[in-house]
Formats: sequence, structure tokens, C-alpha cells
Amino acid sequence: MLNFTHTTLGQRVLFGSGIAADHLVDEVERLRSKSVMMITDGQQQQLARELAHQISKAFVYDGVAPHVPIEAAEAARTLAASHDVDLLVSVGGGSATGLAKAVALTSGIPVVAIPTTYAGSEATNVWGITERSNKTTGIDDRVLPVSVIYDVELTYTLPTDLSVASGLNALAHCVDSMWAPRVDPINQAIASEGIRALAAGLPEVHRAAQEAGGREQVLYGAYLSAVAFASAGSGMHHKICHVLGGAYDLPHAQTHAIVLPHVLAYLAPAAPTAADRIADAFGTQDALSGLLALRETIDAPRALRDYGFDESVIEDAARLILPAIPPSTPRPVTIGDLSGLLHDAWAGAVPTTEMSKK
Ligand code: NAD
Repeated sequence: MLNFTHTTLGQRVLFGSGIAADHLVDEVERLRSKSVMMITDGQQQQLARELAHQISKAFVYDGVAPHVPIEAAEAARTLAASHDVDLLVSVGGGSATGLAKAVALTSGIPVVAIPTTYAGSEATNVWGITERSNKTTGIDDRVLPVSVIYDVELTYTLPTDLSVASGLNALAHCVDSMWAPRVDPINQAIASEGIRALAAGLPEVHRAAQEAGGREQVLYGAYLSAVAFASAGSGMHHKICHVLGGAYDLPHAQTHAIVLPHVLAYLAPAAPTAADRIADAFGTQDALSGLLALRETIDAPRALRDYGFDESVIEDAARLILPAIPPSTPRPVTIGDLSGLLHDAWAGAVPTTEMSKK
């Protein structure tokens, strides 16, 4: 029997190609904003300036840094207060969205997000701030962007390798949603469609990064993945990557891309129904071979050692991760299991499991 509690977050989603400027103008008018702060990183600054040019009373702030250092959050909060800002517009990846959320967290100023990667932060009410190498995350509805403007054209400049890693970060949201603490049939349905869209789009993005078809599917899949993740919460995969990113300063998207197949290989045998849904979404015999085939096609990153993760810290990392593993995880996890998994991810081993076969 179906028996579940599901929360759907309220947000306006505007999706299309070449539509960012027009939709931003409309949103600023709809929200009756008088002072707009555009938050972006150095790379997306030109784009943010072009968008800011379309609206009056907007200024661009490019103080974004990875993982939202508290100093960056406080500087942005002070600036927003001194300009009587009544609307924050983030332009960029998860780091830009994250800084806008940090300002919204203490001020309640609404955020309009214009994402340029597949990180998905724009569709969640999760914030993160880093203080002395320690990243704290929390949930607060004030940080959920009131509107998201997805413009496929803004993703064309994202380099292919980063697109692949970021797209697999989105795929990780979908896979983890299948057994995260607040998993329910709605999250699973959204995650399944997310996997289908990402698996269809990523090979196209890898083949032709400047063409609309693949980009469109991946951006759509990234949105779905974040909706599922926001509702289902962080599963084992996200807990592992959170520790690796925070404690060892590993790059966010690449870490997710590398760790995901190892977690799927570990959990799929213990959750055959969820694994079957993942396999169906990939259109393959079993979940793991679907992911491994995709990984092969798009030349995904394989080994944490290529991103500065040191073999000597594996045991310590396993000890940090273990207490964070959610009770909803479908298979028991020990320090030894985590060390083995991290070692395989460090080395770039091909994960296998007999039991994951349908
Ligand atoms: P990012 O925002 O740091 O961007 C990575 C790099 O890509 C940057 O150098 C950026 O300048 C560049 N870039 C972005 N868009 C580009 C484009 N279109 N063309 C060329 N270059 C572009 O990284 P990310 O992976 O997007 O986001 C990671 C961050 O988001 C992490 O801090 C992570 O914790 C956070 N995140 C938060 C949530 C949440 O729900 N709160 C969800 C997912 C990710």
C-alpha cells in the first residue's frame, strides 16, 4: 500500500533557449524590485553585466568563491544591506547560487537564479557555508529561489569535461534520491525521468557541446534531479562526497562523478526494486551497467587520485563518513566497506557486483 508524506517546494520555473534577458526583465517587474544585486563569479561576469544592462537599478557583484566561505557571505550581506537590495539574481553555477542563498538566509531577500551548470542548487532549499574548512549545510525555505530561469544557451560555454562531471553530479542526485531518508514514490518518479533525460542528453553534449538537443535534455534532467534530491534528502552518496569536498577540498562535480558508480555498485544489490527503476531509466539490463556504459561513452572522470585525494587519508575519511550514513541506507555500512569503496574510487577501479543484475 502507498503511504507517504511528500513536500513539494513552490517555485516558478522558466525554461527555454535565448530567453534569459526577457524573463529576467519580466521577473524584476513581477516582483516589483527597485534594487537588484546580480551575484556571479569572475567567469560569468560578462554575462551578468549584459543581463544587468537590461534592467534599471541593478549592479553586479562578482565575489563568488567555491563552497561559500563565510567571509564572502558576510561581504555580500553587507553590500546588499548598504544598497537596500530587494532582489538577488544569481548568474552562474552552484557557487554563485550558494552565495545568493547565503545572503537570503539572513536577510530574507528573494532570489532569482539563472544557472549555468547542472549543479541543481537553484531548485533546493539547502544552503551551505564554509568556515575554517568546515562546511555547514542547512535547510531553510528563505533560500529557495522564487524563480529559476533556465536558458540552454548559457550552458554552451561550459567546457565538455566540466559539463560531463556536472551532469553526473545531477545524475547522482537522482540515484541517491532512490534510497535517501525521505524517499517516496513521487521523488522516485521524478528521479527516474531525470536519469532518462541525463542519460539521453549527456552523450550528445559530449559529442557536440554547442548543439541544443543534448544541452536541453541535460539541463531539464538537472532540474528534475534537484527537485527529487530536495525532497528526498541526502543519501549515502552525498554524505561521502560532502566529507570528501569539505575535509579534503576535492572538486564538487568531479568527486560526485567518480564516487557514484561505486556507491551504486554497493547499494543496488540491497535495493533491487529501486535498482530496477534506475536500469529502466537507463534502458539497460541492470543499473550498474547502464551507468558504466554512460561513463564510458562520455569519458567521465574515474579516479580521485587524479584530483589530489591522497591514499593515506582513506581510513580517516571513512571514519568521518560513517556517522553521517543515513539509517535509510538499504545496506549496512562499516568502516571497512567505506575504506574499500574509497580505495576503489581513489584508484579508478571499475566497480562490479554480481548481485546488481536483474
Ligand atoms: P561552480 O559554481 O563552482 O562552477 C564551476 C566552474 O565552472 C567555475 O569556475 C565557474 O566559473 C565555471 N562555470 C560555470 N558556468 C559556466 C559556463 N556556462 N561556462 C563556462 N564556465 C562556467 O560549481 P558547480 O559544480 O556548479 O557548483 C558546486 C557548488 O554548488 C558546491 O559548492 C556545491 O556544494 C553546491 N551545490 C549546492 C546544492 C544545494 O542544494 N545547496 C546542490 C548542488 C550543488
